[in-house]
Amino acid sequence: MYSIEEIKQALSFVNDPDLKKDLVSLNMIDNIQIKENQVSFDLVLTTLACPFKENIKNDCIKAIHQHVSDNLLVEINLKSSGVRIAQAAEQSIAKIKHIIAVAAGKGGVGKSTVAANLAVALAKAGAKTGLVDADIYGPSVPIMFDLQNQTPLVEEKDGKQWMIPIEKYGVKLMSIGFFVKDNQASVWRGPMISNVMRQLIIDTAWDELDYLVVDLPPGTGDIQLTLAQIIPHAMAILVTTPQQVALADVRKAASMFNHDGINMPLLGVVENMSYFTPAELPDNKYYIFGKNGGKLLADELNAPLLAQIPIVQSISESGDKGCPVSYETHSISADIFNLLASKIVQEVAIRTYNNTKF
Ligand code: ADP
Repeated sequence: MYSIEEIKQALSFVNDPDLKKDLVSLNMIDNIQIKENQVSFDLVLTTLACPFKENIKNDCIKAIHQHVSDNLLVEINLKSSGVRIAQAAEQSIAKIKHIIAVAAGKGGVGKSTVAANLAVALAKAGAKTGLVDADIYGPSVPIMFDLQNQTPLVEEKDGKQWMIPIEKYGVKLMSIGFFVKDNQASVWRGPMISNVMRQLIIDTAWDELDYLVVDLPPGTGDIQLTLAQIIPHAMAILVTTPQQVALADVRKAASMFNHDGINMPLLGVVENMSYFTPAELPDNKYYIFGKNGGKLLADELNAPLLAQIPIVQSISESGDKGCPVSYETHSISADIFNLLASKIVQEVAIRTYNNTKF
């Protein structure tokens, strides 16, 4: 008779091709059962669409034959870790009252600018706030909060390692940019991304929060779906520029939240770069990217238009300098984001009330 330990030992010789670590330490082997000459176990993948699943299965069989016995019949059941992640998330984010996911159909529309300024404005208004920068294509928190070359501390509690978010301007921050340099993360594939997202959100010691703002990567791929699984109770806001509404991708981003098994309510649309007003002509508005595109989109999606944010030099400059404009006390730009924050607080409250009504 063979032991579970022997099987585990053999499987610890098999590496996940993406993560370059062995399956046992990655917690990907579950439910090992041995009956006479047969062994069965669950191989837990982040997604059943994993392109390497057949290779990993074959490597497992080979390792068991090589290190235990080549007479053993090996049965491997593929499972997705989605459910497991969701359960873990339930526990670790239990003390977070509301999660707001900030999404966009494509990059460059000001999604990260909105996410950062919203988080700072919420904190300034007295809410306990966190911000996760999960944008693998261009993490923005290290620059916008002047935290380049900083790495969060890790603490052990109850036998588990927790990352401690870095706090600045009253916001608890966690960013993919604290761990990878430049654009390295943009080449990652599904399983690797899911693991990192999991760490950014679930393995972070957020403690009690009123709002956790999550800056999603642009688009509608695997990563957004993974995130939606990790944060099942989130509500979304969609950032667009006015001209973007002609494009299918912003609608696709909106429809993602109604995807099977996600059902993330859309809190509303933020139209960014709505118009430009030159300082010397304060009454003139130039609709460089078209007019009211965000409003039309909001109507089409039956969601509120939460803000129309103009193009303002200080919004861009303050981001580059490492202090979001909404941190300022007396400025027109800060007020735009203060107003957005209070609208969002209202919308969240309405939806939460509607969901708990009986
Ligand atoms: P995304 O996250 O959608 O890729 P960013 O938030 O990084 O976009 O914004 C892209 C660029 O546009 C940044 O340089 C940012 O400072 C600038 N920007 C965003 N919104 C505004 C605005 N309302 N006025 C001026 N510049 C803006």
